[in-house]
Parts: sequence; structure tokens; C-alpha cells
Amino acid sequence: MSFLQLRGLRKSYGNVTAVGGINLEVAAGSRTAIVGPSGCGKTTLLRLIAGFETPDAGSIVLDGTELAGNGEVVPAHRRGIGVVAQDGALFPHLSIAENIGFGMARNADRRDEHIAELAYVVGLDRAILKRRPHQLSGGQQQRVALARAMARKPRLMLLDEPFSALDTGLRASMRKAVAELLEQAGIATILVTHDQAEALSFADQVAVMRDGLFSQLGAPRDLYAHPKDRMIAEFLGDAIILPARISSGIAECAIGHIGVDTSERRDVARIMLRPEQVFLEPASPQQAANPPPNVVFGEIVESEFAGAVSTIALRVLNSLDPPDAAVIGNHPLILRRSFVDTPTVGATVRITVLGKAHVFD
Ligand code: ADP
Repeated sequence: MSFLQLRGLRKSYGNVTAVGGINLEVAAGSRTAIVGPSGCGKTTLLRLIAGFETPDAGSIVLDGTELAGNGEVVPAHRRGIGVVAQDGALFPHLSIAENIGFGMARNADRRDEHIAELAYVVGLDRAILKRRPHQLSGGQQQRVALARAMARKPRLMLLDEPFSALDTGLRASMRKAVAELLEQAGIATILVTHDQAEALSFADQVAVMRDGLFSQLGAPRDLYAHPKDRMIAEFLGDAIILPARISSGIAECAIGHIGVDTSERRDVARIMLRPEQVFLEPASPQQAANPPPNVVFGEIVESEFAGAVSTIALRVLNSLDPPDAAVIGNHPLILRRSFVDTPTVGATVRITVLGKAHVFD
């Protein structure tokens, strides 16, 4: 049996359905990320699990104990759940040490030692324990919030966009540090975020949420490579979506004959490639003018430098009989390239696809 189970969880505010019937299983010690656009119900779902809100319907079972359901509700402070909010929500008038130790009994054994240990575990210097929250950086404040939540030895940790106030570099390192820390402590974690890269890198399972419901739930790699629909595909990253004709596991489309992730036969379908699957090799206009069978060439029509990665627009020169080649002809493919590997505008390239294309249902 899973550690946390949500069954048919619902919550409305007036006529707004914030959470519309969520089912979720979370394994002990695992990491789940819930990702979705602003207003889709992520925070409400976390607040229901934490016990800050009461569901209208459905049940929440944690480690075999029903926390909500059948009219019964276990109050938030008895759930053994840690919560770290977006702003850290530290107590401004208390020292860092007192913030961390807030949930510990005043006369607890080795209290100061335990506070110092927790500070060490989240990577904070002992010297800051006497300071007040306003004397700390955003990243340090988030670490304090995490240490405070861990001090209560939670069975489950809920993180509500805890990294959103941090700079990009710090954000990635904090995310990694927090993931390792929670894993070592064996604490199951649910992270809510609107940042798809954060969700994909943090979690063992990712739920994409839309309008109060999970549109898709799965392992990060599965979701990225096999999204259920176009919206999920584009939410999780850049996507090239092409019309194709499919038979015997091959999609015939504007940029060639590409293996697909289904053996079904379809006359017409939409396929998806991630831009990083499209490989470009230098070629000459002469080669493109007389293309060998099944070889596709393109021309770079735009290039935009943006640091490490450039965005280029690629016009396909000899589409291979797609159902509606004209569509592709008018819309160049948008790709991203490393700055050392960006062809110049006007260059002719040979297009090859790595890996399989995904076919939408
Ligand atoms: P997210 O965290 O994904 O941005 P929320 O859970 O905060 O989404 O909100 C989901 C929907 O529920 C939104 O339409 C929001 O306006 C509404 N909502 C959330 N909390 C309340 C509340 N306390 N009262 C009224 N409406 C709310």
C-alpha cells in the first residue's frame, strides 16, 4: 500500500472548483512534483493535504491513518506533515535558532545541539543562528524554513514553490541539496511548482495539473517523451508538432521517415519531436537541389543569439510527401542550438532525427 493516498479529493470556493477530484498515490520516501499554470489548484491541493483546508469530498490517508474523509478531519498540527511555503514565512521577531526550534519543546533534551545540527544539515553556518530573518538572504531564509519544518520530524514534507524567490543558479543548487536531504532523511515529499524543469529534475513522479485535475501523471522521462496531448507537450518543454502518416512503426512526415513509439497504423496523425532530437549537419545548396531518396535538407532562415543557447528557424527545402506539406513550408521549425553549434542564416543543412517520434492519441 502506498504511503499517501488521495481519493476523489475535491474543494470548491463558491462556484470556482479549485480541486476537482484528485487521485494520487505517493510511495514512502519518494518525491512527487505537481506542476501546472497559475490558478490550476496546486496550492489548494497542498493545503488540503496539510490540513489548512477541509475537502468537500474525497479522502486523504497517510501511512494507514485517515486524515480526512467520512466527515472526520485530523487537525493540521496532528498530521505530522511539514510545510515550506513560497516566502519561507519565518517569524521576524525570533532569532534563526528560535525559528528552527519553534516546534521543539522548550525543555527538550539537547535542544540547542539539535538546532545546530539541523542548521548544519541544511547548509547554514552556525554563526547565523543568533541573527534575525531580515539579516539573511532569500536562499538562507528558505534553508531556515526547511530546517524548521524538519525539526518536527515530519512523515511527509510539502514544498509550495520554495525556490521561486531565488536566482537561477542558487535555485538549482538548493533544489538538488533539498532533494538529497529529504531522501537521506527518508521523508516523502510533494513539491508544487509552475516551473516544468524544476518538476522534471526534482521528482520521481510528476503530475501535470490543469483546471483542478491531473491531466497526466507519470515518471518525468515518460511525461516528457510521451505527453498525452499538445498542451502537456508544450507545457513540459519545446515541441515540434508535425502532421504525419503512420504505418509499420514509421511516420512519414515533412522531415523524413521517423520511427514512432506506437505500432498502430494511422492514415493521418500528429507526431511530436523534442527539438533536441533534430540533428543538423552542414550541407551544400547543390546537395539540397538533388536530394537522394529519403534525405531532407533545410535552410536556416533566422538565428537569435541568447547566451548559451541560440534559437534558430529552419525552413525545410524538400518536404517528404506529408499529408499537408504546405503547412510545414510556411512555418519554419524552431530549434535551439548550443552557441558553439549554431549554423549561420542562409546555411544549408541536412536534417536527421535522433530517437523516436511520439504519436498523439
Ligand atoms: P495555484 O496554486 O495553482 O496557483 P490555487 O490553488 O491557489 O492555484 O487556486 C485555484 C483556484 O481557486 C483559483 O481560481 C483561485 O482563485 C481559487 N481560490 C484559491 N483559494 C481561494 C480562496 N481562499 N477563496 C476563493 N477562491 C480561492
